[in-house]
Amino acid sequence: MAPNPLAPAWLALPSDANALAPGLWPATTRRTALGELEIGGVAVSALVAEFGTPLYVIDEADARSRAETLRHVFETEFARIGAEVHVYYAGKSFLSIEIVQWMLDAGLNIDVCTTGELAVALAAGAEPSRLGYHGNNKSLAEIDEAARVRIGSIVIDSEIEIARVAAAAARHGVTLNVRLRVNSGVHASTHEFLATSHEDQKFGVVLDDAARLVALIRAEPSLRFIGLHCHIGSQIFGADGFAESASRLLRVHAALLEGGPVPELNLGGGFGIAYTSVDTPTPIGELAVALADIVAAECAQLDIPVPVIAFEPGRVIIGPAGATLYEVGTTKPVDVSGNTRLYVSVDGGMSDNIRPALYGADYTVRLANRVSAADPVLVRLAGKHCESGDIVVNADYLPGDVTPGDLVAIPATGAYCWSLANNYNYLGRPPVVAVLGGNARTLVRGETIADLLARDAGPRMTRTSTLDSVSTSSTSELGAVMTGSGPTSPTSPTSDNDEGTIR
Ligand SMILES: *Cc1c(COP(=O)(O)O)cnc(C)c1O
Repeated sequence: MAPNPLAPAWLALPSDANALAPGLWPATTRRTALGELEIGGVAVSALVAEFGTPLYVIDEADARSRAETLRHVFETEFARIGAEVHVYYAGKSFLSIEIVQWMLDAGLNIDVCTTGELAVALAAGAEPSRLGYHGNNKSLAEIDEAARVRIGSIVIDSEIEIARVAAAAARHGVTLNVRLRVNSGVHASTHEFLATSHEDQKFGVVLDDAARLVALIRAEPSLRFIGLHCHIGSQIFGADGFAESASRLLRVHAALLEGGPVPELNLGGGFGIAYTSVDTPTPIGELAVALADIVAAECAQLDIPVPVIAFEPGRVIIGPAGATLYEVGTTKPVDVSGNTRLYVSVDGGMSDNIRPALYGADYTVRLANRVSAADPVLVRLAGKHCESGDIVVNADYLPGDVTPGDLVAIPATGAYCWSLANNYNYLGRPPVVAVLGGNARTLVRGETIADLLARDAGPRMTRTSTLDSVSTSSTSELGAVMTGSGPTSPTSPTSDNDEGTIR
């Protein structure tokens, strides 16, 4: 077989379209003897029978171990150069009460950037001292709330915020630890970085302004300056952008030491992950070595003590630990100048994963309920929304007999999928379940029609739907018909609260 000419150049024709590429899937993902996928010891058919589709699945052991490993390797490498490391989990990548607890268990702190994220962290029992607060436009109420709970640290993102944060801290009688977010002029993406004298973007202040602004911060008795902060981008594969940024920051850090203590330097997050088999992010252990080396070398050259180094990874911890399950509803071959692209439409889309529409992000898809020896065909996995850009996987190969009722799985959806989910077309956001040791449990339940209608203030004229309080679990009606593997009744309630998720 030859590759389909419609396939992007990077996409190889697989010798086995059932194979799971290494490094893409949650660590416990495997195929059972019957050929279906299982994650955390739970077969996808069982997950879908209980929770329906679409379904976000998080491999708990994998998420916890990624958090622990990351902290461990960074602590080890920076201990080698005599430095302490503080790791903050970037909550915006995916935050729920249990996830916060896993991260705290792993010895991580938590970054939040709104009152909502703060509320989740506090509900999880996080000590406020282990929380960092971010954002380029924190409201006065948000700053006040952060000060009231005695947040561990807060980032000042613009000159205007100095007085706001100082006033809130004074009002609550606390001294707040503050970082100043700067723009190092380095902006990095997957394979390259751009280094300029400053960046044209909304976050942070230009490096040349840092000395003046830190003097203003130091003049505020209710603020304690702890160091510079910089986040150079996301989904970054190499260490070079971080190295360039760190060396620029350390020069300013050294100058700031002349005016008072600067205990810390925060180098942000952005460590990349693999979404497809051609993605090759630098392993986290190698990144830790490279970053510790560059920090040590720069500090030696500047003749300054190595500060505490802080990091804020999100995606690299939770992204690869997650996968999304969908059910195939329709398939449609489309002829494109003599070649065929098979459109495979699933029961979710840009409402549960907006990254392809937002960033042109690529993903991988595999049949989840079975293996097949059929020849691979080029597919585009589309969602069900009223938008032609509603694509989940732009291009991959699946066995050519993929059919309605099949389950498909997308790896690496743990980060920036649920957290960016929306209700386009009045789809409810799907549930998130954790799998561990053969058991599955709900982290966040799915939304129901009742949830969606609850916020609509219009007077009810008729009973709008018979589905608003009964289960509408999309637990495979098609699958039950096609394969006999579905539930006994398509209206059997889901386990978490007797309200199904809506499709
Ligand atoms: C988004 C963000 C992060 C986390 O980025 P990842 O790519 O998920 O590691 C960390 N710090 C700041 C300030 C961010 O905005």
